[in-house]
Formats: sequence, C-alpha cells, structure tokens
Amino acid sequence: MRQSHLFIKTRKEAPADEVSKNAILLTRAGFIHKEMAGVYTFLPLGLKVLNNIENIIRRHMDGIGRELLMSALSPMEKWQNTGRLEKVDVLMKTSGANEGSKAKSTNEYILNSTHEEMITPIVAEYIRSYKELPVAFYQIQTKFRNEARAKSGLLRGREFRMKDLYSFHTDENDLKKYYDIAKKVYMDIFHELGIGSDTFITLAGGGDFTKDYSHEFQTLIESGEDTIYLDRKNNIAYNKEVVNDETAKKLNVDFNKMEQVQASEVGNIFPLNVKFSEVLNYTYTNESGEQKPVYMGCYGIGPSRIMGVIVEKFADEKGLIWPESIAPFSLHLIVLSKDKESDTYKQAESIYEKLKNHGTEVLFDDRDASAGEKFADSDLIGIPMRAVISDKSLQAGGVEIKERKGEKSEIISVEQFIKMYTVCCDDCNH
Ligand code: ATP
Ligand code: MG
Repeated sequence: MRQSHLFIKTRKEAPADEVSKNAILLTRAGFIHKEMAGVYTFLPLGLKVLNNIENIIRRHMDGIGRELLMSALSPMEKWQNTGRLEKVDVLMKTSGANEGSKAKSTNEYILNSTHEEMITPIVAEYIRSYKELPVAFYQIQTKFRNEARAKSGLLRGREFRMKDLYSFHTDENDLKKYYDIAKKVYMDIFHELGIGSDTFITLAGGGDFTKDYSHEFQTLIESGEDTIYLDRKNNIAYNKEVVNDETAKKLNVDFNKMEQVQASEVGNIFPLNVKFSEVLNYTYTNESGEQKPVYMGCYGIGPSRIMGVIVEKFADEKGLIWPESIAPFSLHLIVLSKDKESDTYKQAESIYEKLKNHGTEVLFDDRDASAGEKFADSDLIGIPMRAVISDKSLQAGGVEIKERKGEKSEIISVEQFIKMYTVCCDDCNH
C-alpha cells in the first residue's frame, strides 16, 4: 500500500486525555481513534493488526471448535433467566423503541458482556443426545462492559473484542480432557502472537462457577493491572486474589519463595460444570435413556487487549514495535527522492510494484516528505523491517535495510533485496 493513500496522519504530540503508553502511541501512530473513555475506532493500520491477531486465534480455534456469530444485543429476559441481571455489575442496559403495551417487558435489552446466556439455549435446541457430545462453538466479537476504570487504552475497553469459546460435555471427565487441550492451544496462540515466553498459566478464582480454580493467561508487563505470584521453576503463577494460607496448604506451595510481578490477563478459561445447564435446564439423554445435566466450559481471549499488551511490552521511546506475526505490513519501503522523474524514485517505484504484485505486505512511503519525517514515522508505526532507497543507498550498492528493533543497517543489492521479499513458500502460486 502507498503511504500517500493511507490518509491517516501521524502526530508528534501525545493526546491530552490519554495516560497509558498503548493509547498514546497507537493514537500518535494513527492506529486508533478515541470516541470516549474505553471506546476506540480501529483505523486502517490498527484494524490490520487486530485482524492479524484475530486470524491467528481463529486458525487455532478452528482445530477445537466451530465458529459462529451470536448477536451482540440480547433481550433482558435471557439475563433474568440465569439471575445474572443483577449480579454482573458491568452489564450495559439499553431500551429499544416503544413496542407498544404488550411488549413492556421485552423492550429492554442487554449489550452482551459474555455469551453463556445466549449459547446455552442455542446448543440445547440442537444437541440432546450423548451421541452428539462433546461439541464446542466459538465466536470473535465486540463485547460491552461498563468498566469503572477505563483509563488504560486497549487494556480495558468498555467496548472491546473477545474470542469466546464454549464447550459441552457428557461428564466432568470429558470436560477436563477438553479443558487441558484448550490450555495447550491457548499457549500455542500466545507463542504465535510473540508473547508466549512471558505469558503464564495462572490459577485464579473460579467465580461462582466452580470451587476449583479458573486458569488465567497472564502476560508480564509493568503496567499490568494484576499482581501474580510467579513460580518460574514450575512455570506456573497464582493470582494474588487466591494467595492465602488456605491455598498454600491445599496446593502445598510456598508463596514466599515466588516473585511478585505485574501482569495483564490476556485469556481466561473456566470449568463451568453444570452451573448454566442446571439453571437453564439443559440436559441430554445418556446411554441408558436418562436425562443428565450437560457439563460446560468457557474459554475467553481478548484480542484488543492483546494488541495493547503487545504495545506496552515491545514499544520503545521512538514508537511501536510489532512482532512479525501481527505487524500491519512486513516491510516499510521508503524512497528518499522527491523528484518523481529521478532514477532513484523510478527504481523505488519498480521495486514496490514487484513486491506488491508478488503479494508481499509492503507499505511504500511515496510521500513528498523529508527524510527526517519519513524515518520518524517509520519508527513510530513500527513495521519490523525498514528498507530505504536513496541516491546514497544506490551509490553504496542498493537498498539500505534495518530491523525496527535493531540498531545497525546494511546495504544489500536490489536483486538480493527483491529475492528476499519474493521468496515463495511451498504452496504459493508464484
Ligand atoms: P478483568 O479481570 O481484566 O476485568 P475479566 O476476568 O472480567 O477481565 P473475562 O470475562 O475473563 O475478563 O474475559 C475474557 C478475556 O477478555 C479476558 O481474559 C481479557 O483478555 C478480555 N477482556 C475482559 N475485559 C476486557 C476489557 N474491559 N477490555 C479489553 N479486554 C477485556
Ligand atoms: Mg477473567
């Protein structure tokens, strides 16, 4: 893509109303636009990153569940049915158009904060026999929560993205087996997103779903809202909320020997057991023809929070630094000649066209701007690799390439450069 067609401009100053590193940098670099506290528009560059994150999650989820898309809006009744209308304090309530006298109780709605109330009756309608279980469905969707503290940019949105998966089983044992698989798949996802080595499975409270623990996936960042006790040797952590004498005794662990660190919850999985199936009357017929409650698990990941976490974790004083797997482009090509008729400019154009036609994700800075401005914007936007074509680079032998996170640049020949970015994989058509 040509930068001259991007339309979104970067800015030097931090927005006055943001305090978090992720919101400041993402706004300055033109990835997000604030609408109100905790509510952001994803601008084209930001949407590319968000889509990349969600597509990685989607690919892994497709291995353990079927994708669907539930409605974001639900009748208030659904939340009354489970008794969570009063319990969930972040629920966003809204009223619809006046539907006349008969509809008094149905013209109030919930903007869903999670979807147990929605998925359980859907699955209950189709899956009623042990022969059809287990099943799992997931979606990637915008969720709404009336969060009190919405000052951390993408880390805590009032409107945010979530991948939520729900699994359904005949018994606790089958749920546990699936739960362990999901745990592993989650770690694979975090590794692919570039945060795996700093993300730890963390025992946390089970809410009112289970007497057991739930498992959070906590990524270490200084600005993280959660305090966790980290046992690096055993590769496990404990959320501060469960750190007490009772847990120490029950699990035979010594919290005094662990590191206390700040982290952000990027995922959370819960064995729901029969909590929702009992209250919503969801049973299945077992082999002997008896009705039994369905066992459920739920599994969340926050793609927009992850985008914020990755900024907090990797960005430096010059700007964003994206891991390869989710970067908006893999290459930032910059031409340093303003004269469109010059050989240098034509050379850059021709290289850009070649890479673009090949399918390389390249952002071409073809703007009529100074070298200083182009370099500063390139650092701010944070594409993993920068390639500069200038009179100087061509005289020195070709293209000057530099990794965003590195210090050193090097000159490589134009041919070598093109080859580097047009290498074909086994199953591509070039
Ligand atoms: P927190 O404790 O941070 O409020 P939660 O435990 O309420 O989060 P879950 O209900 O477990 O969140 O949601 C699943 C995932 O969705 C979380 O692990 C997190 O990654 C993401 N998430 C939850 N709330 C938000 C939010 N307000 N903004 C962005 N992402 C969120
Ligand atoms: Mg949670």
